[in-house]
Amino acid sequence: MKEFTGRFAVVTGGGTGMGRELARQLAAEGCNVAMCDVSQKNMAETVALIEEDRPPQGTRVTTHIADVSDESQLQRFRKEFEEQQQTDKLHLLFNNAGIGGGGSFVNDPREEWERTFNVCWGGVYLGCRTFLPLMLNADEGHIVNTSSVNGFWASLGPQVSHTAYAAAKFAVKGFTEALVTDLRLTAPHIKASVVMPGHIGTSIVANSRKVMTGTDADELSGEDIERARARIGRMGLDTAQLTDDAIRALAAEQHRRFLEEAPTTAAEA
Ligand code: NAD
Repeated sequence: MKEFTGRFAVVTGGGTGMGRELARQLAAEGCNVAMCDVSQKNMAETVALIEEDRPPQGTRVTTHIADVSDESQLQRFRKEFEEQQQTDKLHLLFNNAGIGGGGSFVNDPREEWERTFNVCWGGVYLGCRTFLPLMLNADEGHIVNTSSVNGFWASLGPQVSHTAYAAAKFAVKGFTEALVTDLRLTAPHIKASVVMPGHIGTSIVANSRKVMTGTDADELSGEDIERARARIGRMGLDTAQLTDDAIRALAAEQHRRFLEEAPTTAAEA
């Protein structure tokens, strides 16, 4: 999509991290943005940042409390979207919300495992189910689903269990690749893409103490997390020009570095 001005976008997980930055960039280009999150406070901070960016006059930014793993909450979000944005058309859908947790299939409580899977995969699936009908009403549409490098490289290394997240992110990648073909056959004005970010220093990484420590160590303090986060840094890969094999090789290298650079115990963090 070359022109965002006057278009309508939905961003899930707009309260922090990549969803926040995405909402900011879209609004700065005059795109009307409806974001959802589980935290109203964080969405209010995103809106304050958008206002500081001074988007073009008339750009509408709305916030909606919705848990993406709950279809009834997404349906309410869609209803609010249509009322508050005053449209029945959607051009951009970013299924971005995600969480960590439920790493060990053996040891972690089933509820925790299913929570991660249901947010990371269910959120994408239900996001598409809920908002695709509004894209059918528009002249063009683009669905962007967020997977992860863990969508083609499941393991985070020999010390870290990561089963729910990897299962969900593989599902997001497989579904989106198949959706591309489905849309070409059924609704060719709609495109779909999957994004597979490397490690980016957002709260999902900072909060994931098992990923950072590789242990079931006691809760880290906020200061510990900040120190560990500073050590991990921003490690995203720009994969736009690369072949799948090159991306896999880079992802493997990035994981090796991640494991070497991340503290291995809570004490070290
Ligand atoms: P983040 O934690 O900063 O942002 C995630 C946002 O989603 C938060 O605002 C959170 O409140 C919201 N959210 C969580 N559960 C939700 C739910 N059930 N319903 C609605 N909103 C919910 O993390 P981020 O790094 O910006 O992550 C964005 C996406 O990128 C996620 O899907 C994540 O899995 C993926 N990703 C992140 C990294 C990374 O290293 N940061 C790497 C690969 C993929």
